[in-house]
Amino acid sequence: MHPAVRRHRTPPARRSIGYSAASRKALPFFLNTFRAAAQDERPDQGKVLRCILFGKPGAGKGTLSARLVKKYDILSLSTGDLLRQHIAERTEIGRQAEEIVAQGKLLPDDVMLKIVASKLDLIRNKHWILDGFPRTVGQGELLDAHLKKQGTPLSLVVNLDVPDEVILSRISDRWVHLPSGRVYNLSYNPPKVDGFDDETGEPLTKRPDDNPEVFARRLTQFYASTSPLVAYFAAAAQKRTRLPHTPVPHPHQLAFAPAHTLLLKTLSGTTSDEIWPKLDALVRDSFPALKENAETLDAQTRRRHSLSDVALAAAAAVVT
Ligand code: ATP
Ligand code: MG
Repeated sequence: MHPAVRRHRTPPARRSIGYSAASRKALPFFLNTFRAAAQDERPDQGKVLRCILFGKPGAGKGTLSARLVKKYDILSLSTGDLLRQHIAERTEIGRQAEEIVAQGKLLPDDVMLKIVASKLDLIRNKHWILDGFPRTVGQGELLDAHLKKQGTPLSLVVNLDVPDEVILSRISDRWVHLPSGRVYNLSYNPPKVDGFDDETGEPLTKRPDDNPEVFARRLTQFYASTSPLVAYFAAAAQKRTRLPHTPVPHPHQLAFAPAHTLLLKTLSGTTSDEIWPKLDALVRDSFPALKENAETLDAQTRRRHSLSDVALAAAAAVVT
């Protein structure tokens, strides 16, 4: 496996793709659920999760994708984390991004696609989540074209719906562990030791764009450039597309290409804890082929054991 693609079981130095510890932060924005084709056509014939987590800045995209990665065999890619790493490492992209990110503006679409496409190529056969991309309709179109070329179209868009006031109030309390992308919130998800990451003990930092002035700009930017993507995805979800590379059927078979459908779903709430069970159920029900990670299953087995221990003890108490 390429070193840039990591699973959560190998705690990485970076979180741009892959591992993210379950941190807590909050959530989403709004809209309806659109289902493309008929009910009997589950999203994506191959049941591969290729998902965009969409929502305002601070809506909980990073927190929720971390939880999905922790629970399921999924890789995640956060463009915000990726750019912050480039900035920290003073790469050419990082030097270009620093000023733009600090001002709460967006990088050009073609630059972003270049950054994302190379990573997507590495994870094309996996279940994956994108956090922070696409962020403009232009990026959405570029992404679609890229995925279409690969024959790996999007299968799920989750629109996180969290009220503006909730997001604004949580931003000033937010601290991050830069190398991993882990997020803490002083009021509802504080680190165990003030100012330090729970897992590595390294210092936490404040994002330079997490101040009220820049954050207001990021929110304005969201409404101007990013929120139109909802209508774009809704239109895509109402189309049923035929996948390329359909194998030639037996001469006596009818030649129907497999249909691909995109599922678009809005999940609302004021905290990630409130949204998480809905997201978990959505992913589990829509992508039954998705495997849970061994640790999660172990924990469930342990829970079941301890439950049956309780039941046995209770039964024994009745008998004696
Ligand atoms: P949060 O991390 O709270 O969800 P956010 O969505 O605003 O907030 P990030 O996704 O971390 O923040 O992105 C931080 C900054 O990186 C953005 O404000 C923007 O400047 C830049 N950036 C990230 N993704 C993109 C993108 N797809 N296109 C253009 N710029 C981007
Ligand atoms: Mg983020």
